[in-house]
Amino acid sequence: MKALYDNDSYREEFIEAVYELLEDDPTRDRANQIIDLFDSAPEIEDVAQVVHSRWILDSSDEYASHYHCGKCGEEIDLCNEIYTEPTPNYCPNCGAKMDGGGEK
Ligand SMILES: [Zn+2]
Repeated sequence: MKALYDNDSYREEFIEAVYELLEDDPTRDRANQIIDLFDSAPEIEDVAQVVHSRWILDSSDEYASHYHCGKCGEEIDLCNEIYTEPTPNYCPNCGAKMDGGGEK
């Protein structure tokens, strides 16, 4: 899976900025330590794993549809009276992305 951001495209710019900020340090020791930190930054996919789930329909009548989150069980009611409300893309309780999977 590709990371959501790209270290490499920003690296040169970052290094220049660090050297400029720390130009009073002739050994560039501190600057190089900061650049090492930049290079060891975890990719976003390691930090925030997207949890996938889906809305499971419990019951539906002419007024409302009742769903629960397949991950955490959070219940939501959607109005059917005027038009059928679309189910949310994310669970408001556990933050799961509702594109399938993770069913309990
Ligand atoms: Zn949930």
